[in-house]
Amino acid sequence: MVKHVLVAGAGASGLMAAITAARSGAKVTILEAMDRPGRKLLVTGNGRCNLTNLDPRLSSAYHGADPVFAKSVIEQFPPEKTLDFFHELGLLTTDRSGYVYPYTNQASSVLEVLLTEVRRLKIKVKLSEKIERIFREEGQWKVQTATWTYPCDSLILCCGSKCMPQTGSDGSGYALAASAGLSVHTPSPALTPLLCEGKFLSSLAGVRCHARVTLLRGREVPVASECGELQWTKYGISGIAVFQLSRHVSCASKSERFAAEIDLLDPYLDDEVLSMLRTRALALQQEKVAAVLRGILPEKLIPVIQEKAGIPVKMTCAALDEKSMDALLHTCRAFRLTITGTKDFDTCQVCAGGVGLSALSPETMECRSVPGLYFAGELLDVDGPCGGYNLQWAWSSGYVAGRHAAI
Ligand SMILES: Cc1cc2nc3c(=O)[nH]c(=O)nc-3n(C[C@H](O)[C@H](O)[C@H](O)COP(=O)(O)OP(=O)(O)OC[C@H]3O[C@@H](n4cnc5c(N)ncnc54)[C@H](O)[C@@H]3O)c2cc1C
Repeated sequence: MVKHVLVAGAGASGLMAAITAARSGAKVTILEAMDRPGRKLLVTGNGRCNLTNLDPRLSSAYHGADPVFAKSVIEQFPPEKTLDFFHELGLLTTDRSGYVYPYTNQASSVLEVLLTEVRRLKIKVKLSEKIERIFREEGQWKVQTATWTYPCDSLILCCGSKCMPQTGSDGSGYALAASAGLSVHTPSPALTPLLCEGKFLSSLAGVRCHARVTLLRGREVPVASECGELQWTKYGISGIAVFQLSRHVSCASKSERFAAEIDLLDPYLDDEVLSMLRTRALALQQEKVAAVLRGILPEKLIPVIQEKAGIPVKMTCAALDEKSMDALLHTCRAFRLTITGTKDFDTCQVCAGGVGLSALSPETMECRSVPGLYFAGELLDVDGPCGGYNLQWAWSSGYVAGRHAAI
């Protein structure tokens, strides 16, 4: 008997699940709430789509209540299989230090090869069909939209999270899962900028620099540390290093306080920087202190650092003694910001939290207590770091769900 599989959502995980189910012999229909499929895919990687990552420890990099679950799903369809899958669809890829992008540098290429395969496999795609209710009747799943009720043998929920609802993932998948009896761990924005205190921030908006950022709980206890490009904004800090730290803040209880300690001199040693300061200060005795900092810090950061270090803007290098140089060094090494929160769901790249995994089988992605109901993608309580990890989760979980929903 040919199974009829219905896939809820035409994002990365839904398209993968639908293609895999159709290749496994099922008759497949996708219902998508938006008027176009794959809207989030188009904005990934700044429109370039970092579609996977060749990190050998990728399967252990995921967060959520049960990271072992994610590992066993990824291992069934690891990045090497993702590359084979896309190469078979005619997508050339390029590997930038393990970060894999389409060779065209366009996310639309990834979406187009998926949609071409959807057409080739004669998968029906119904657009502007938002699922409002799911229920079981006469041994079948029934999926209700505003205009129709669709019957199916297996239903795969791939509705995404609450992140960037303008792309279609408005969180409605959580209510559908809950209506089938699954628990939902409160979603929080992750991979998102941090909001910080400080009037000086408005003068730094747009500045980008290299830094190591350490997140401190209660202003003292280091939680995690990341280095990379730091982007200053009028409300706080952003950039990949900050994104990677953000879930610690958004998932913490409201009463917890956090600070960021920014090392603006990473990876230079104290002696290297001090020696340069001394030599340049000696050579530029009549110049303002800013003159020796221009080769070390972005221009807009200089007055902020000087003020925090207690060095008057008008001070000349002749007055720059060892104590002042130590103060400058320390301020650059341990620039403190008080964190007040994170940006919201509109701005984040992924959600932490989601449908609980304890009710699902990692071998099949089927709900153990509700036969015929499968899950994939960001709707679940799995989130990964920046760099292709979240799409890899969508491909792997979509593959496993599609394969088992079809048989
Ligand atoms: C700006 C940005 C950049 C990113 N860049 C990267 C990157 O480069 N690499 C990476 O690995 N990850 C990246 N991510 C994360 C990645 O895009 C997601 O984790 C992934 O796309 C999730 O896929 P999904 O299929 O689970 O959900 P989605 O892609 O969100 O798809 C869910 C689909 O379901 C539909 N839907 C929702 N509810 C219903 C309903 N009730 N009825 C019918 N349809 C419904 C939605 O309209 C949507 O089309 C990025 C995310 C953002 C926001």
